[in-house]
Amino acid sequence: MAKITVDRGKCIGCGACVALCDKLFVLKNGKSIPLKKEVKGDEEKCAKNAADSCPVQAIHLDK
Ligand code: SF4
Repeated sequence: MAKITVDRGKCIGCGACVALCDKLFVLKNGKSIPLKKEVKGDEEKCAKNAADSCPVQAIHLDK
């Protein structure tokens, strides 16, 4: 189980997280918003992929 947060101040709206994991992230007004606060299992893996792919490290997963 991990808690997802997106630092909207850092997010540049590149869309990588949405492309990788559209069940968990959407772009709104050019910034990513997490659709769930907490994830586990496959969703946690998807969120981790998205976090690892974020060019500005704006996605944080806290266990
Ligand atoms: Fe924003 Fe990072 Fe997602 Fe790109 S990958 S939209 S910079 S949170």
